[in-house]
Amino acid sequence: MASKVVVVLSGGQDSTTCLYWALDRFGVDNVLALTFDYGQRHRIELDCAANVAQHARVAHTTLPIDTFLALGGNALTDAGIAVDEAPGNALPNTFVPGRNLIFLTFAAAFAWQRDIVDLVTGVAQTDYSGYPDCRRDTIDELEKTLGLGMQREFKIHTPLMNLSKKETVEMARDLGALDAMALTHTCYNGLRPPCGECPACRLRAKGFLEAGIADPLESI
Ligand code: ZN
Repeated sequence: MASKVVVVLSGGQDSTTCLYWALDRFGVDNVLALTFDYGQRHRIELDCAANVAQHARVAHTTLPIDTFLALGGNALTDAGIAVDEAPGNALPNTFVPGRNLIFLTFAAAFAWQRDIVDLVTGVAQTDYSGYPDCRRDTIDELEKTLGLGMQREFKIHTPLMNLSKKETVEMARDLGALDAMALTHTCYNGLRPPCGECPACRLRAKGFLEAGIADPLESI
């Protein structure tokens, strides 16, 4: 029996590309998509994740984690804070401390219960590497810690880790994920069609522009 894999699916461009990477590598019957409802201001992300999973015909589970909402203090869970780019080397206020660490820990617990060791996350340390929990060295240490703590040799796959946004778009094209891109959500301001001006929108637009591919989202 082929091994199964858990993909952390946020409903965005990167995690959707990772979902198709997993489909290609593990086969549609072996992919489980997992989404976290962490109190994100833009609930549209949860609908997008469900739509992407349905489009890809994979099993999909959404788990609630509302502690980040109670913590507040960042622009993704706190409606009183506007998205702002970081001055100098500071972290942008869209950084949710601990988010990826918690996501991957719960993803590992979810996988453990199902005898699964392979996890996939769409983090990348290139282009937009303001988030320290997106770096491979963080992931390596977490993989080790989860393996020790759950006595299971987890493998955390990060297929986008060293890719630029342009290369991620090209990968999505090569994996046949462009149709699904129309269902994704990227905008930090929660707008659909996207605002085109927030850091997330600008980065997405740059990737598609450099790849010479029209963003399917814009044709909606
Ligand atoms: Zn935007």
